[in-house]
Amino acid sequence: MIPISKVDVGEEAERLVLEVLRSGRLAQGPMVERLEHSFTKVAGTEFAVAVSSGTVALVASLQALELGPGVEVVTSPFTFAATLNAILEAGATAKFADIGEDFTIDPERLAEAIGPRTRVIMPVHLYGLPADMEVIERFAMDNGASIVEDAAQAIGAQVERRPIGSFGLGCFSLYATKNVTTGEGGVVTTNDSMIDDRLRLLRGQGMRDRYRYEIPGHNYRMTEVQAAIGIPQLERLEEITRRRQENADLLTEGLSGLEGVLSPVVPRGRTHVFHQYTLRITAGARVGRDQAVRELRGLGIACGIYYPRVVFDYDCYRTHPRVIAGSMPKAELAARQVLSLPVYPALSESDVGRTIEAVRLVFGA
Ligand SMILES: *Cc1c(COP(=O)(O)O)cnc(C)c1O
Repeated sequence: MIPISKVDVGEEAERLVLEVLRSGRLAQGPMVERLEHSFTKVAGTEFAVAVSSGTVALVASLQALELGPGVEVVTSPFTFAATLNAILEAGATAKFADIGEDFTIDPERLAEAIGPRTRVIMPVHLYGLPADMEVIERFAMDNGASIVEDAAQAIGAQVERRPIGSFGLGCFSLYATKNVTTGEGGVVTTNDSMIDDRLRLLRGQGMRDRYRYEIPGHNYRMTEVQAAIGIPQLERLEEITRRRQENADLLTEGLSGLEGVLSPVVPRGRTHVFHQYTLRITAGARVGRDQAVRELRGLGIACGIYYPRVVFDYDCYRTHPRVIAGSMPKAELAARQVLSLPVYPALSESDVGRTIEAVRLVFGA
């Protein structure tokens, strides 16, 4: 069976983790600082603050912006629950702007969703493809809103050569399946020194110096072991990304011409880092999406459905007083059509070949 993702941290991580274990310093220290420094290079920002997860990165970012009561955060309806959970955790109201063909927020729908209470725009760079950040940046500027990027799936991606995570507050996840992993972990990137300062306070119980508290905070810290696992991957990030992109190119080439099966598109000016390689199985395909998933599994190819429903389409959100659930036809369609194939760096050429063969078998005429 070819799995949908595979963890490969490399040998250097083993050496660094051992170094941490032998150092006697396990809680946040020099390794975390090293990881943060690497992240400023990745996102091209002045500051990076490591935290315990991607979800925490989103929550802390919203908290650092000191949103008052009744404030709205506009985000994508086609995302992982963490995006929405973070907004609710921070006490804000979640509003949605439907997606476009590329699975990210549609600027036209965003323009409609922004209202007088909108203080934050939270685009999601889904599957590793950045949202249309140049337009979103202009909307944010015109409306006095802050940008919090959900960059959990898109480490290393760029828009017009600008790294994502540098358009506002960038929230990265280092969860086990992400392009760079520390098991669990997250990072916030920013160019704003006040935000950086606030994030650091929030991360450590709101404490400036020993027992001098400035704000009510939390424990959002990352451990030294986590950082040691991540540092070598950040050094190899270009190679990790290139391997994913090469696998994606092979898949797209091998799957061309299949009726009703659409390969991912990369809009001009944006780089896709292929956290997922996601097909759309449209009405013209020989078999339906869910049938295809079963047949592919039978042929030894694991596939994923990210995500089977619009993010708020569950009772706990539908009935939530701070969720504004509108009609999201494009996201609903995507939820019925998407099918992700293995694209991780450790795939061999023959694994990719087998995957192509299986998909062609399932959808071939
Ligand atoms: C993984 C992910 C998160 C949350 O990250 P964790 O590290 O799992 O907390 C948030 N948003 C998106 C889009 C993700 O894929």
